[in-house]
Amino acid sequence: MQNTPENESGRSVLITGGNRGIGLAIAKSFLAAGDRVAITYRSGEVPAGMLGVKADVTDMASVDAAFTEVEAAHGPVEVLVANAGITRDTLLLRMSEDDFSDVIDTNLTGAFRVVKRASKGMLRMKKGRVVLISSVVGLYGSPGQINYAASKSGLIGIARSLTRELGSRNITANVVAPGFINTDMTRALPEDTQKNYLSSIPAGRFAEPEEVANVVRWIAGEEAGYISGAVIPVDGGLGMGH
Ligand code: NDP
Repeated sequence: MQNTPENESGRSVLITGGNRGIGLAIAKSFLAAGDRVAITYRSGEVPAGMLGVKADVTDMASVDAAFTEVEAAHGPVEVLVANAGITRDTLLLRMSEDDFSDVIDTNLTGAFRVVKRASKGMLRMKKGRVVLISSVVGLYGSPGQINYAASKSGLIGIARSLTRELGSRNITANVVAPGFINTDMTRALPEDTQKNYLSSIPAGRFAEPEEVANVVRWIAGEEAGYISGAVIPVDGGLGMGH
């Protein structure tokens, strides 16, 4: 499903997994700032004013087709937010190889696929902003999340290598590492796990997706043009020191 963008000014922004949760909040935030916003989605509805493109980040052909559609409607992607992610939590001894590789394929290789595809247009334009949505767990670690933590710390390697490869072309790549945010992903966690998290968060509360979105929009903006390869926590202090 596609919606005709009402606003033809601003930058061409693409958010993967922008149909719900943190991705949706990020998409709304860029839209409110006057950008031309496209989201990838596999399910649900596309909010008014955004362009929705069907895409599965585990499939390069699907990613390529989505970018081609966005480029035709909005021009080359100037701001890419790699947000799509999944969990398959279980303790190491119970974790199957599929549990591990499915999470890596979506969260890490999926980010690689979209970053690679986006970089072509960014290089041509000689400008671009890449924001990778990691997690506090990437550096903090978490029992039952070996697959997820590995995928999320890998994103830091992508952002920093990308910075070294493309930093001289006016392209920045940064990581935003949320803590515990109220979305479908965290609502699915057992109550005990939620309580444990809450007791370790200095801020004493969970966050709303909009609190992540504000930081993503800022790091992708003009004012943050000299920041690249950074890991920016949005976690109420949960992971500090890492
Ligand atoms: P949700 O589970 O609410 O949403 C996940 C999004 O990713 C959905 O839009 C989903 O699309 C999309 N997605 C999943 N797999 C694929 C795929 N193969 N191809 C394309 N899209 C896919 O998650 P959140 O909003 O909570 O999380 C968003 C990001 O933030 C994730 O990367 C997550 O790891 C990270 N994060 C979340 C935290 C939290 O506390 N919530 C904390 C730290 C990091 P669909 O609807 O079609 O399934």
